[in-house]
Amino acid sequence: MAKIFCIANQKGGVGKTTTCVNLAAGLARIGQRVLLIDLDPQGNATMGSGVNKRELELSVYDVLLGEATVAEAAVAAEACGYRVLGANRELAGAEVELVSLEQREQRLKQALAAVAADYDFVLIDCPPSLSLLTLNGLCAANGVIVPMQCEYFALEGVSDLVNTIKQVRANLNRELKVIGLLRVMFDARTMLQKQVSDQLFEHFGDEVFQTVIPRNVRLAEAPSYGLPGVVFDPSAKGSKAFVEFAREMVERIQTL
Ligand code: ADP
Ligand code: MG
Repeated sequence: MAKIFCIANQKGGVGKTTTCVNLAAGLARIGQRVLLIDLDPQGNATMGSGVNKRELELSVYDVLLGEATVAEAAVAAEACGYRVLGANRELAGAEVELVSLEQREQRLKQALAAVAADYDFVLIDCPPSLSLLTLNGLCAANGVIVPMQCEYFALEGVSDLVNTIKQVRANLNRELKVIGLLRVMFDARTMLQKQVSDQLFEHFGDEVFQTVIPRNVRLAEAPSYGLPGVVFDPSAKGSKAFVEFAREMVERIQTL
């Protein structure tokens, strides 16, 4: 049975999409069967996996509206070793169309039931807001992976997200938990980042992943080639860190 994780943080530009495509590629590299779901109408995770969002015949939009199954709409990200349920601007309209549907927060969960046996991991890239799209992700998931930069206001942002997750757990998905906080774009030379990192461990203990993703230009360059860094340049420091993170995830799900 697939384990399903949302990559979420209500802030934009914190590394959600980078984490999603590179964790997917890292997991594929160590032999896991992975489906990546792009829930962001910007379609960055789709493009970053080498799938052209403008040429999608079916997307997560069609799945949410019940017009296609996941199996029909998912495509292979050939170079990356995983499959993608893509998104494009059409998805922005789904927000409005979903409102009138029954069980509107549970549409993705229901659609995923049919492919649970086909994958080990389903990774969902969420948009930077608490929209009906994000709620569909959180309702479908076993847990949430929170990428974060170790900056001054980071702890506050994480507390907000943890509260949101508590509310979703109380009302919509009893199973949902924070799987872990992932420190990304980390620069060990910065005193402040080290301090915030120490505070994170004080507040969240074991919920902080051991793996740290360094700031690494190869990870930032890779999307323009339509590839995750892990595939674009496996020897880069950032890529190695994501493969390490994939191993940590495989270990962590044993305890779920
Ligand atoms: P989000 O999906 O949260 O909006 P992105 O994953 O798109 O964030 O990342 C925001 C920007 O930061 C992108 O330009 C991305 O290439 C860059 N970036 C993300 N992680 C790293 C990293 N570890 N090192 C360098 N650049 C990074
Ligand atoms: Mg993104």
